[in-house]
Amino acid sequence: MKKKVLFLLINLLFSGALWAQADFDYNAFHNISSNELLEFASELSSEKYKGRLSGSPEYLDAANWCASKLEEWGIQPANNGSYLQYFSNEYTAVKTLGSVVYFNGEDKTYLEFPGDYFPGSNSAGGTVQAEMVYVGYGITAPELGYDDYASVDVKGKIIILESGTPYTKNDTTLAKWTPYAYHRYKFKNAVKHGAAGMLYTSKLANPNTVNLDGFIYAHIDTKIVEQIFADAGKDLSQVRRQLRNKEMPSFNLPAQQEVFIRAETEYFPKAKACNVVGWIEGSDPVLKEEVLIIGGHLDGQGSMGDVVFPGALDNASGVSNIFGVAKALSTSAVKPRRSILFILLGGEECGLYGSKFYTQNPLFPIEKTRLMINLDMVGNGTGFFVSGGKTNTVLFQHFETANNTYIHREMGASETRKNYGRPRSDASIFETAGIKTLGLWTRNSVHPVYYHHPMDKTNVLTPEIMEDAAKLLYLGILGVANDIKL
Ligand SMILES: [Zn+2]
Repeated sequence: MKKKVLFLLINLLFSGALWAQADFDYNAFHNISSNELLEFASELSSEKYKGRLSGSPEYLDAANWCASKLEEWGIQPANNGSYLQYFSNEYTAVKTLGSVVYFNGEDKTYLEFPGDYFPGSNSAGGTVQAEMVYVGYGITAPELGYDDYASVDVKGKIIILESGTPYTKNDTTLAKWTPYAYHRYKFKNAVKHGAAGMLYTSKLANPNTVNLDGFIYAHIDTKIVEQIFADAGKDLSQVRRQLRNKEMPSFNLPAQQEVFIRAETEYFPKAKACNVVGWIEGSDPVLKEEVLIIGGHLDGQGSMGDVVFPGALDNASGVSNIFGVAKALSTSAVKPRRSILFILLGGEECGLYGSKFYTQNPLFPIEKTRLMINLDMVGNGTGFFVSGGKTNTVLFQHFETANNTYIHREMGASETRKNYGRPRSDASIFETAGIKTLGLWTRNSVHPVYYHHPMDKTNVLTPEIMEDAAKLLYLGILGVANDIKL
C-alpha cells in the first residue's frame, strides 16, 4: 500500500515537473470535447433565438446567454465592466412567408417556399402587382459609361434584378465598380427610377440589404427566372452572357406577364445590437499590454414567419469553437503572457456592423493588437484552411506547428488578398483597420452546406473537427501569446 502511494506521489511530482515546462496544459487541452462544443452550437441554433437576427430581441437573448457563459468561466468583461458593446442596428422582422404569384395571361402560378422563392429580408410590408422589367445588375454608373436603366422604363413596374457587377477580376478596375456592388445601392437605384417592387434572382436569406419605404421584394429561384424568360421568348443564359459582356440587355417583359408579391414585415429603424466581449489579462507585466483577438460572428439570418434559419454552421460553429478555447484558457495552468480578447460580433449578416463598430471603437489600442483570428463556418469537414497564413507567417507558424504535432489534419493556407471589391468578412474589416488577421475555415465538407437556408441545422456539423479547431486554437493562441520573440 505504501509503495503504491509512493509510486503515485513520484508519478505526480514527475508529471507535474513535465507540465511546468510544457507549452500548454494537457488537461485543459484534452477537456475540449466535441460533445460540449455541439451542445453550445445546439443552444445557439435552437428555436428560441429565432436565427439570431442582429437587432432583434432574440439576438440580444443569445448575446446575453453567451455573456453568461464567459462569466461562468471567469472570463472578464472587456467593456468597462460589461460583456456587451452596443451599436445601432436597424432590422426588419419578416412575420410570415408572404406570397409570390406569377401570372402569364390566364395562367397563374403560386410560388412555393423554399423551392421557388424566399421573402425579402428587408422588404417593406404590403402588396404589389405589376408587369416586369429585366434590369440586369441594376447599375447606373455614368462615369463608367454604363446604365442598366438606359433603355427601359421601370416606373410602377416590378424589376428583375441580378446581384454582382459587370467586372469581377480583383484589381484596381474592380474598385471603380465596388460602390455599385452593394445590394443597398441597387435597391436605392431601383426606387430612384420609380420601380414598385423587385424579384431578386439570388435565392437566399440576406439581411445585408435595406428597408425602403413601400419597396416590396422577394428572392426567386433560377428555375423561376428561366420560366418567366421562356414565356417571354427569351433565353436566360444567353441574356446573362450579354450581361457579363457589358451589353446591358435590359428589356420590358410582355404586358401579359405580371407578378404579385405580398410581404408581411415590420421595420425597426432604431434597434440596437451588440458585440459580446470578454478578456483574459496577460500574465506578463509588460506583454499583457498587447492583445490577441479571437472573434467570430454570433448573428444569423433570423426567421421568416415560423421558419427559423438556425445558422448552425454559419456561424454557431465558430462561436462554439471560440467558447471551447475560452473555457480551456480560463482553466489552463499555462497562462498567456499577452492578453486575449474574445469577441462575438453582431451585425455581420447586416453588413459587418459589429466589426466596423469595434475597429472604430476599439477596447484595446489597435497598434497593440498583434493578431485577430476570425472564425466563420468552422464546423463541417475534415481539413483546415487558414487565409492570411502565407502572409503572416510568423503568427501562422504557431498554428502549423500545433497541427503537425498534435492535431494532424490537412491544413492549407493562403496569402492575405488585397480586396478591391465589396468587403465580405469581418476579418477584412480588422485587416483594413491595420490589424494582422488570420481566417480559420474548415474544408472538405462532409455534409451539404446549406448557405443562408433553413436547413443549416446542427446535423450538418462535424463535431470532431470543431473539437480539433478549438484545440488548434488553444495551442496556437497560447503559442503566439507566449512567443517572446514576436
Ligand atoms: Zn458567416
